Amino acid sequence: MTPGDLNRTVRQWLHPPNPGEPGPPDPVDERRRMVREQLDCHARGITNPRVLQAMAAVPRHEFVPCSEAASAYEDHPLPIGLGQTISQPYIVALMTQALDPQPEDRVLEIGTGSGYQAAVLAGLVGQVYTIEIIPELAARSEKALQNTGIRNVFHRIGDGHEGWPEAAPYNGILVTCAARTVPGALLSQLADSGRMVLPVGPSDAGQELVMFERHGNKLTRSVLLWVKFVPMTGGPC
Ligand code: SAH
Repeated sequence: MTPGDLNRTVRQWLHPPNPGEPGPPDPVDERRRMVREQLDCHARGITNPRVLQAMAAVPRHEFVPCSEAASAYEDHPLPIGLGQTISQPYIVALMTQALDPQPEDRVLEIGTGSGYQAAVLAGLVGQVYTIEIIPELAARSEKALQNTGIRNVFHRIGDGHEGWPEAAPYNGILVTCAARTVPGALLSQLADSGRMVLPVGPSDAGQELVMFERHGNKLTRSVLLWVKFVPMTGGPC
């Protein structure tokens, strides 16, 4: 039993449902419904079975503030405090699938936020390196990941524009905040055949969700869809 399970059990003891009333929804059922109604090939075209399994396994409600836990599996982004948001489940699944994650891969994430995206990746690849610029969020997400028993995520507090060169190259790089321009340091840390997925564009409007793929010295660029992410802060002065 994780500390999250324990908290839930204690909450249910303290506030038991009245006899005859339905109890709180089971998070496992909620996740199955999320996959069926928001993600899979019939709903929105997420086809990678490992990605769907990871989305069905990670307890998203453990990564959002208590005040948002009842909405954790709904089809929209949620506030996580300090002006930041956790992406809609579909966007998490789409970006993860775009990386084509393999069990041996090493992946870099910029913008740890709640830690949820890192948790999804951790179930699919060998190691996840994640950087968060807001120390308070970094501390919270590290705790949430520990509480869910995830051990293959490495944390750093700082500005993700420079990447994490000591652990490069990465088979995948995922940026979960909107960059005005593509950070060159991140592209240079991409392994051969590696993919980088990031929203690019001004923060006040929508952005293009772009995927880069490295083939030797060549990079291909494709646009996946139109998105709206919180801005990537920091960067060169
Ligand atoms: N992946 C997150 C989504 C977080 S929202 C999740 O699953 O919850 C984007 C995050 O990017 C915010 O937490 C924000 O503080 C962080 N961020 C913004 N600019 C950054 C930068 N330059 N370096 C690292 N993190 C940054």
